[in-house]
Amino acid sequence: MNIHEYQGKEILRKYGVAVPNGKVAFTADEAVEAAKALGTDVCVVKAQIHAGGRGKAGGVKVAKNLDEVRTYAQELLGKTLVTHQTGPEGKEVKRLLIEEGCDIQKEYYVGLVLDRAQSRVVLMASEEGGTEIEEVAAKTPEKIFKETIDPAVGLLPFQARRIAFHINIPGKLVNRAVKFMMGLYQVFVEKDCSIAEINPLVTTGDGKVMALDAKLNFDSNGLFRQQDILEYRDLDEEDPKEIRASKYDLSYVALDGNIGCMVNGAGLAMATMDIIKYYGGDPANFLDVGGGATEEKVTEAFKIILSDEHVKGIFVNIFGGIMKCDVIAAGVVAASKQVELKIPLVVRLEGTNVELGKKILNESGLKIIAADSMADGAQKIVELVG
Ligand code: ADP
Ligand code: MG
Repeated sequence: MNIHEYQGKEILRKYGVAVPNGKVAFTADEAVEAAKALGTDVCVVKAQIHAGGRGKAGGVKVAKNLDEVRTYAQELLGKTLVTHQTGPEGKEVKRLLIEEGCDIQKEYYVGLVLDRAQSRVVLMASEEGGTEIEEVAAKTPEKIFKETIDPAVGLLPFQARRIAFHINIPGKLVNRAVKFMMGLYQVFVEKDCSIAEINPLVTTGDGKVMALDAKLNFDSNGLFRQQDILEYRDLDEEDPKEIRASKYDLSYVALDGNIGCMVNGAGLAMATMDIIKYYGGDPANFLDVGGGATEEKVTEAFKIILSDEHVKGIFVNIFGGIMKCDVIAAGVVAASKQVELKIPLVVRLEGTNVELGKKILNESGLKIIAADSMADGAQKIVELVG
């Protein structure tokens, strides 16, 4: 789960990680009030969307007085911001962070990520802050430094210090940078983060080490014990289809292709997406209906797939183990009747109660193209969608 920058900064502040003073605003009036309360000469008006790259896209404005705060707030609120992370459709700005202007001396990058190959959290940092870290990694990988963290002892001060030296934090600020990294690590572990990325981390004219941006992502499997984080969820930022799917406990991820997939098991769902790609098609979603899905859940899943206007065909690929083929078939039939099915539907069923499942489909009167195997089904749907 993703949260906004201002929310991330609220969490960091609680852990003693330095961030500039600031306040969220939903209207231009609130923005002006927030700026007044800050009382600084310079304010920064920052669009809050779940995507980075706002600076380059005009979503971060420096205001020198309250009139400018109002002008920028009016300009940004309601605007659709297109950044390299939003995709071409962009994201509508509904919240702003009004923050004190910071006298930046230098921008750095600091991030904590999970390295799956090592099964360890890794602290990553670079002197090349403010820019896209992916670009630094591609062009000048020698400018990225890493420390692997042993979970038994956590991040050790000497590791943070070594990073601080590598990225050339001025000597007299090294201790502050170390404190910053230690705090960030504590947030990462205690809040079940999957990413904690600070880009930029800055040193300031008055000798501070602060997070000017904050990107925190959380492992959704840990959210049951992170009620305070769950409250930060902003449904406006999520795909409505994914919200609907989460209500039914379906693992659904919207993608930008045109072949809807209904599959059981995450591994089979991944393989189904791969094989569609292999035959030249593009999946419209990842969907794992899970092992113990009911007919109602399958019906809902099918309706969610159909609600995507880009979907030009559906591939149902089920290997019935715990999941029974007849339950899937009944769900497909029920949903197809509720939502008039006008696009091609290819079904491959195998496993528990497969004969019963096929019988339900055959007797439904629906126009269903049966597939003998996964490869056969993938080829058929790719052909039909064209
Ligand atoms: P994004 O990563 O989405 O572009 P950032 O929060 O990193 O957004 O802001 C982009 C740039 O704007 C920063 O690299 C920094 O130079 C500047 N900036 C952001 N916040 C402030 C602030 N409070 N004071 C001064 N400059 C800022
Ligand atoms: Mg940034």
